Amino acid sequence: MSSLPVFDARFVRALPADPSTENRSRQVTGAAYSFVEPTAVKAPRLLAHSPSVAALLGLDDAVVRSDDFARVFGGNGLWPGMKPYAACYGGHQFGSWAGQLGDGRAIVLGELLTREHGRQELQLKGAGPTPYSRRGDGRAVLRSSLREFVCSEAMHALGVPTTRALSLVATGEDVVRDLLYDGNPRPEPGAIVCRVAPTFLRFGNFELLAAREDHTLLRQLVDDTVSTHFPELGAPGPDATAAFFAEVCRRTAVLMAHWMRVGFVHGVMNTDNMSVLGLTIDYGPYGWLDDFDPDWTPNTTDAQSRRYRYRNQPAVALWNLERLAVALAPLLPTEQPLVDGLQTFERTFELEYTRALAGKLGLTQLEDQDDRTLAQDVLRLLASVETDMTNFFRALSAALRTEDAAPLEQAFYEPAAVPADHRAALTAWLERWRTRARREGTVDELTARLHAANPKYVLRNYLAQEAIDAAEQGELSLLHELFEVLQRPYVEQPGKERFARPRPDWAKDKPGCSALSCSS
Ligand code: AMP
Ligand code: MG
Repeated sequence: MSSLPVFDARFVRALPADPSTENRSRQVTGAAYSFVEPTAVKAPRLLAHSPSVAALLGLDDAVVRSDDFARVFGGNGLWPGMKPYAACYGGHQFGSWAGQLGDGRAIVLGELLTREHGRQELQLKGAGPTPYSRRGDGRAVLRSSLREFVCSEAMHALGVPTTRALSLVATGEDVVRDLLYDGNPRPEPGAIVCRVAPTFLRFGNFELLAAREDHTLLRQLVDDTVSTHFPELGAPGPDATAAFFAEVCRRTAVLMAHWMRVGFVHGVMNTDNMSVLGLTIDYGPYGWLDDFDPDWTPNTTDAQSRRYRYRNQPAVALWNLERLAVALAPLLPTEQPLVDGLQTFERTFELEYTRALAGKLGLTQLEDQDDRTLAQDVLRLLASVETDMTNFFRALSAALRTEDAAPLEQAFYEPAAVPADHRAALTAWLERWRTRARREGTVDELTARLHAANPKYVLRNYLAQEAIDAAEQGELSLLHELFEVLQRPYVEQPGKERFARPRPDWAKDKPGCSALSCSS
């Protein structure tokens, strides 16, 4: 068999460990993490893997397909150099401080120094209990693991910053979950995702230390994060801490613009789910806009207040950054750099989101108030009649070649119910848009630009659910096909059009397709 890469454990060397190695739920203080090993499962079996992540990590195909791989990535063994641990963090959940949370079902196996992408951590999600499991079992079900696996790689292919996913391994064990939270728990197949990122540090790692007034460890964690992941910010200290905060603000703003651009709704933007690298992290009850409804949230737990609805995401990100600012304040002589950082967020988001909107219209930028109105008007039109966001923008290129709105007709969910004045308004908008867009290039040039900005294939909720239903019956071909299609979301893929179909009627109210609970 091919040789294995040698794992490292830099994080655990650099930061203090929980002195106890007892695997029992408890408060852990004075430590950044606890050593804990995955709990073995009955029959680990590789269901899917990401060839590009395997390549990035230097893992040969032969290694990935070996029994040994399923053993290690199912939690039944370790490779040389792995020193598994669960991280200690807290967080604000739905606007309230929740105290210690921590990796309740995630375990970092180790780190690999890659040739082109620096240091990468490999983390199992669903590998058994840790000191942070509270009352949870440390496990994950196949449906949520499949959703995380496919979406991570789909997001990466869309150009959205995200944690990556290496593998999806079935455990051969059942996990009991109450899917609808209606008092009907049932056994479901369990699975484990291996996710990959330079670090999984969240705002909550810093918040917990600040809440406990452990400023020594807080400073140590910030300094270590800066020197490892943000070396360009200079030597650790107050200046670098301020620059670190500004950079987290900038990256988070870029991330929000991406989410808004592709119609992604995270669903649980708690501060323990916010990466300091500005990556999409913790795929739970996320969803994609089918019809463009800015007030939509996929998360049933949030159905009342809709805190994490699509259009609130940038504002929530800013609120979360304010929590991080509060956590970092004790390390700085004045608060001014934190205030400046938050302004960096607002400025960057405005810039990036405007740029993204311009791109969706095939324009290099929104040049003046007329352009901004053009963009605002189309969003208003989309929201006023049930219209598929992805298919509408994808079809714009075809509407360059016509004088009417015919190519956009297929984006309506109920064409027969569209009022005549809406059709007239859309036709008038298209006329303004064509005139403006043609100033920037030929129809072919604009088409290329529009296609590069507007994906044809996104992980629609019902598509994920279809792959889940099949996988739960032991049929994996749909999962593999869906995964493949989503690797090239901006490219026309003849024969794969069914993966670009708008949400079918049967999916409108089906759990998993329109709304998801946090049960996972
Ligand atoms: P999430 O909403 O998925 O971000 O999870 C919030 C917290 O609950 C994190 O600390 C998780 O580690 C923990 N958690 C979620 N599910 C489980 C589980 N099945 N077992 C143990 N801990 C869990
Ligand atoms: Mg989480």
